[in-house]
Amino acid sequence: MGNGAKAQQKRERNADKNAPKGSKSQAKINEAAKSIICGVCRQNFLITTRAPALEEHSANKHSKTMAECFPNFGK
Ligand SMILES: [Zn+2]
Repeated sequence: MGNGAKAQQKRERNADKNAPKGSKSQAKINEAAKSIICGVCRQNFLITTRAPALEEHSANKHSKTMAECFPNFGK
């Protein structure tokens, strides 16, 4: 019993202080990453979505070409 236990408590308190953060800013990052928007139905797609997936959406949902639904893609 003594200084060892006290030091341990202190370390745990510091860990608590550092733990809760970042969840809100992560949501913001996710929102910003959704920047491909279908011009027909306004559905959001991640910026990392590949052209074939967008083409599929255009054809299946709207019977249109990708250029009609996503005129800004790749620009
Ligand atoms: Zn659409």
